[in-house]
Amino acid sequence: MESIEIQPWLFRVEPLEGESLSHFLGRFRQANELTPNRLGKMAGLGGAIARWEKFRFNPPPSPQQLEALAVVVGVETERLQEMLPPPDVGMKLEPIRLCGACYAQSPCHRIEWQFKTATGCDRHKLRLLSECPNCGARFKIPALWVDGWCSRCFLSFKDIVKWQKTTLP
Ligand SMILES: [Zn+2]
Ligand SMILES: [Zn+2]
Repeated sequence: MESIEIQPWLFRVEPLEGESLSHFLGRFRQANELTPNRLGKMAGLGGAIARWEKFRFNPPPSPQQLEALAVVVGVETERLQEMLPPPDVGMKLEPIRLCGACYAQSPCHRIEWQFKTATGCDRHKLRLLSECPNCGARFKIPALWVDGWCSRCFLSFKDIVKWQKTTLP
């Protein structure tokens, strides 16, 4: 992967395949001990980071904003664009959805799960879960998923696959 210069005091975080911007930003902030506001200030983006972590893409991030973020996180603008919904796809802000089978393979929140059109995981033919099947707590925004478990009962996200129903007839 092409990489761009990053400030020497920052840890670089490699994006995962399919990862949503919210999840990536959460990992980058955690690695560098940054709050959303601090990262927003560093990139000259103000409150945009906090909005994007909640999937509020209205108005969508501009090319200039993504370029500013790219410089700080050391990830190409085009790669950041892949963490966003395509322009013609509507987003479902809530509830946050999850496929445990995907998470077990690659520990991240996938952007496609929040598409308005998403009904299940196409790869595993499983319905997505929108709350913890053990305790009923809603999943937090992916930027806060760093531990990979339910914030209330600590059920590991990769274990929730046991509760997922098939989408096959
Ligand atoms: Zn899946
Ligand atoms: Zn739980």
